[in-house]
Amino acid sequence: MKTISPNDKQILLDSIRDIPDFPKPGIIFKDITTLLSNPKALDTLMTHLQNRYQTYNLDYIAGIDARGFIFGSILADRLGLGFVPIRKKGKLPYTTVAEKYSLEYGFDEVEVHIDAFANKENARVLLIDDLIATGGTATAATSLINKVGANCIEACFIMELDFLEGSKDIDVPVYSVLHLE
Ligand code: AMP
Repeated sequence: MKTISPNDKQILLDSIRDIPDFPKPGIIFKDITTLLSNPKALDTLMTHLQNRYQTYNLDYIAGIDARGFIFGSILADRLGLGFVPIRKKGKLPYTTVAEKYSLEYGFDEVEVHIDAFANKENARVLLIDDLIATGGTATAATSLINKVGANCIEACFIMELDFLEGSKDIDVPVYSVLHLE
């Protein structure tokens, strides 16, 4: 159950940029492109996640469209595991299973291939995304993983916006590397 050291936490916090009023007024967008382009910060993050998850006996990493693909693929490769994309509706080419979730106005939908985890019975899956806000996307994603016959062992986020309490309704353990006010 390793959490991040204060020194490594500061390296990550210093590498993430706040963009006020993007994509709309009132939102402070947490921009991780500056973390990705900083080799020391990216290695600090990925080494931390590798150390934490190497004892979890995982079978797959599942990443949420689109920034979860980046961190999820690197982690899967570091742990010698397969990677499964959970995509926005209409992007996956084969037969999919879908899950709707509410947004501030209306609905969105995520999908996974029906056979994504078929190579391993009761596959142990870690879900990863860059940020948890309301938790709607992650709740839909954990439900999808379970719907196609796998077990979501934990949901991992690089950042959690604590004031939105998005992790409280997620029915698997949640690990957020950075907790932001
Ligand atoms: P939610 O479903 O409300 O938890 O939203 C999570 C998704 O929206 C993640 O895929 C994030 O990448 C994205 N997101 C939400 N809020 C922000 C934010 N302030 N900065 C960056 N990404 C965000």
